Amino acid sequence: MKTSRFSIFPADDSKQEIRLRRFFIGCAAHLMNVGFILLCWYFSYLATTPTLVFVGLDLSFILLCYVVLRSGLNQRFADPSLTFFQIAVPAVLGLYIMFHAGAARSAFLLLGVTMFAFGMFRFKIRQFILLALFILFGYCLLIVLLYQHAPSQIDLRLEIVLWLAFALTLGQFSFLAGTIGQLRRKLSEKNAELAKQNTELEIALQRISDMAIRDELTGQYNRHYLMERIAEETQRCARYGSAFCLCILDIDFFKRVNDTRGHLAGDEVLRKVASSISASLRATDFLGRFGGEEFVIALTNTPIDGATVIAERVREKVAQLSFPEIDAQFQVTISIGIAEHDKRATAASTLKLADDALYQAKESGRNRCVCAP
Ligand code: GH3
Ligand code: MG
Ligand code: MG
Repeated sequence: MKTSRFSIFPADDSKQEIRLRRFFIGCAAHLMNVGFILLCWYFSYLATTPTLVFVGLDLSFILLCYVVLRSGLNQRFADPSLTFFQIAVPAVLGLYIMFHAGAARSAFLLLGVTMFAFGMFRFKIRQFILLALFILFGYCLLIVLLYQHAPSQIDLRLEIVLWLAFALTLGQFSFLAGTIGQLRRKLSEKNAELAKQNTELEIALQRISDMAIRDELTGQYNRHYLMERIAEETQRCARYGSAFCLCILDIDFFKRVNDTRGHLAGDEVLRKVASSISASLRATDFLGRFGGEEFVIALTNTPIDGATVIAERVREKVAQLSFPEIDAQFQVTISIGIAEHDKRATAASTLKLADDALYQAKESGRNRCVCAP
């Protein structure tokens, strides 16, 4: 039975994980602010009741945010990071504590700016301005309330100066942070675009290198690359003396296929025969289209007996192929000439031997394998 263990971060949702990580950075800021408020209380700038109310509400708010983010409930909102909410609610709590903070009140304005900075992860200039207006209006309201309740605490001129300084700070900050956010978004858009172009380039490169070595019709190696690989193999054979065989395969009476069934049917036969041959080979062997309806297979580390067995298997497989798209009765056969490479010989001379053997296979009735003497 599968047991699900609780984890702080969601296991398989990277976006939610980022949101939660940012939330935890915010939590650290909350805890520092709580510490600062307790210090104010210790120095008697704050009375016990508002301190307890603030700490209780702030910690509950953190807990609520975590539950909403971890449960995925946040994803139902337009901004799943809940940035506005995560700044605005503490701002209201901040105004509450400032109402009670007496002479220490202006110190909280500085904390307000840091809290505002958290919008940088998410906000555009417009949202910053909106939030700034919200906070400035709240602060204005606070001064009015204080002026009514405890006018002795209020030096109106000083409050206006402080309020203006706060407004200027938040305004300039909104503009700067909004601009940085814009740059950040542009950068990540560019990065995504670059990553996309990179993948497209890789695919194109793969296609180009495939086109350079593969035959377009059958997808097997083209003659040029086939000869390169054979040359490598003959060198290996010359150096290490490993046995190596070449087989030339030719479709029997292929011209008739074209003449009676059309060229497209002929192409289809070529494709199907090629993939059947390829499927019959071992991973170390290789196949290429030598020309027209002729293919060459190179059997590495294989002496002539082994090559004959493989060639026979290839021949039988092709003879069993059916072509329902052409005609249910239609079948093709191939003839194969096999030659073992002599380490002193050239690839061309071995191919010539295999070709001669193929000629014999054709002469002696087709649909068979013949080994070069
Ligand atoms: P044999 O049994 O003696 O090999 O007879 P054959 O008819 O297969 O021999 P021949 O060499 O006369 O015919 C080969 C034919 O293969 C001629 C050519 O039109 C056809 N051919 C070559 N390349 C292609 C191709 O890419 N597509 C198609 N459809 N036919 C091709
Ligand atoms: Mg031919
Ligand atoms: Mg032929």
